[in-house]
Amino acid sequence: MRITFHGATRQVTGSAHLLEIGDSRILLDCGLFDSDRIDPASQNRRLEFDPHTLDAVVVSHAHNDHIGRLPFLVKQGYKGDIYATPATADITSIMLRDSARIQREDVRLAHVRHPNIEAPDPLFELFDVEWMVERLVRVPYEQPREIAPGVFLTYRDAGHVLGSAIVQIDYEEEGRPRRFVFTGDLGRRNTGLLPDPAIVKDVDVLVCESTYGDKELEPYEKLMKQLHAIVARAIRLGGKIVIPAFSLGRTQRMVYCLQELFATTKLRPIPIYVDSPLATRLTEIHRDHPDAYTPEARALMDRDPLYFGSKHVEYCMSFEDSRRLNYQRGPMVVISSSGMCEAGRIRHHLRHVVSDPDNAIVIVSYQAEDTLGRKISEGVERIQILDNWYDLNAAVYVLDGFSGHADRADLAWWFEQTGGGIEHGFLVHGEPGPMDALVPVLQRFVKNPVRTPDLHESFEV
Ligand SMILES: [Zn+2]
Repeated sequence: MRITFHGATRQVTGSAHLLEIGDSRILLDCGLFDSDRIDPASQNRRLEFDPHTLDAVVVSHAHNDHIGRLPFLVKQGYKGDIYATPATADITSIMLRDSARIQREDVRLAHVRHPNIEAPDPLFELFDVEWMVERLVRVPYEQPREIAPGVFLTYRDAGHVLGSAIVQIDYEEEGRPRRFVFTGDLGRRNTGLLPDPAIVKDVDVLVCESTYGDKELEPYEKLMKQLHAIVARAIRLGGKIVIPAFSLGRTQRMVYCLQELFATTKLRPIPIYVDSPLATRLTEIHRDHPDAYTPEARALMDRDPLYFGSKHVEYCMSFEDSRRLNYQRGPMVVISSSGMCEAGRIRHHLRHVVSDPDNAIVIVSYQAEDTLGRKISEGVERIQILDNWYDLNAAVYVLDGFSGHADRADLAWWFEQTGGGIEHGFLVHGEPGPMDALVPVLQRFVKNPVRTPDLHESFEV
């Protein structure tokens, strides 16, 4: 088998790996690089392989850095099946329709700002997304499916976000069975909402993520205690809690955690507002897949069938609903996107809360360098939001343990569970620091030297 790494190499975006098994060519993920989608020079507009020659596309989960270029692949001529778990297929359709709409809007704004420069085309249009959606084939967890002659795909639960999967590919080479495993993004253990990542044994070739390869995150029980204290403080002071969160995964996790606090402690429930139309649509899909959750989470949901939307939780669709929150008195929680505060409604909420020390901003996910979220999490004295400067007086709490990614200890645990004896190991989806730190941890279970491939690098394994 030959594997070529076309993305997420020594960085966290653009996941895309090409497998060649006998005469079959299979692409794993087709993610977006974190660069401007309407920039004509963007890496996102180049494919280093011919889409016509692919036999199958296998998607690990529905985050944009894993699915964001699927409509572009179809636009460039891919006509085969795109495999995904049922929840991932549902979420992919919603995420990419939203992406097409945002790109159209970006092109329109570029034209308004620079009327004399011809605006570039979006990476793809809504009709490309619809063509792509037609190609989606739903494969539930733990049900092997032949995706090319003699090549079998089995999805195993990755516990990262709803529908997320570890990709297991079984095939024969020179008469002996071989197993290739791609972790996609692995979730944390013991998070209460989604199951722990599935254990996979007898692995011959492993491609693993490494986002938190150098870091141990706080355990879930400790995070819940911290969240309890933050809510108690808001009740005491009548303050607002603002949580920037990604629409898929983190928003639903924070709603779940707050609901759990209200259900299992003496804390008085306070209103929770989810202010993101995309997150609202995605939350509806979460309700459609009750079988995806842990038994404890399901038990809580059985007691309250409107779990993600009970009387304490309100979803804001319109701008008027969103604006109304700015003038409403606390205590209350506002969860809004984008997760790194670079765009979207979250900036308006921050603008209204930052200067008052009775309020709190809770950072629950990774914040990239130079983003507004990073500056807040570092506790700078003054910040610029939209066009104005503000004193940062609100309390800032960084609880990145709520992240959907396995930390170093979780990854070490998962490697151990494979039973070792892995022939070839590769690390992807991490910045160089965390990735290099994880190499010795994985090496204990791998016979050949663990590799951290460069972009478009290819290996015979
Ligand atoms: Zn992910």
